Amino acid sequence: MFERGIEIKTPAQIETMRSAGLVVAKTLERLRSSAADGITTGELDAIAHDHIRSLGATSNFLGYHGFTGVICTSVNDEVVHGIPGTRVLRDGDIISIDCGAIVDGWHGDAATTIAIGDVPPEVSKLMDVTEEALWHGIAAAALGGRVSDISHAVETTVGAAGDYGIVEGYTGHGIGSAMHQPPNVPNYGRPGRGAKLVKGLALAVEPMVTLGTAETRTLADDWTVVTSDGSWAAHYEHTFTLTDTGAWVLTAIDGGAARLAELGVPYGGS
Ligand code: MG
Ligand code: MG
Repeated sequence: MFERGIEIKTPAQIETMRSAGLVVAKTLERLRSSAADGITTGELDAIAHDHIRSLGATSNFLGYHGFTGVICTSVNDEVVHGIPGTRVLRDGDIISIDCGAIVDGWHGDAATTIAIGDVPPEVSKLMDVTEEALWHGIAAAALGGRVSDISHAVETTVGAAGDYGIVEGYTGHGIGSAMHQPPNVPNYGRPGRGAKLVKGLALAVEPMVTLGTAETRTLADDWTVVTSDGSWAAHYEHTFTLTDTGAWVLTAIDGGAARLAELGVPYGGS
């Protein structure tokens, strides 16, 4: 059912999205254990493809506007949409992996950034700040609130942590029977604006944060988005929904229970 262009899911549809979300969560966990010095991004993609299939799901990335992977692999100064291929990961790199899956027509979408071996403290901090911003964004969402409450929480979390670039050209989004739906969920802005947060709405929140500029450009492959100053970037994403009892992070193994508790937010999962 759509209200003003926004898809409102039934509890049963949300349960199916949870199944898709768990496929994504488990695939990213598998990739985290595989990402190491010497592996190529294409090998990670093959692992993800096998894993998604083994869990009875299909990829929503593969073939999306012609995309050739089941994951996006964005290394160092690459922000998002990197294409898996022959690039070899080396100690000291970071890789943002974005992954999605479909179960019975319902979508999940999540991303995480992984350090290969040891990375400098400022890079670890960039990763922590970006992940914190994601969780604070989700924690700011409540029934009756507005989409930009999330945006504002992301921006203020990053701003309070130091001098970082928040990429503005790409946003989070509604998700359900398609991967990308209205409304957009920007990573900056004043609170109290945009679509109302209602039961049955599902959103993907995905801050992209850099050690330098917020400006990006797209490489000649027409996909890979890099920072325009070469600074490194992190990208974290979860798909979540709001129920009568609280927030439910559909792409977290524990539904977000642990992190939400730390942030004092009621858990809304089943
Ligand atoms: Mg994604
Ligand atoms: Mg997304």
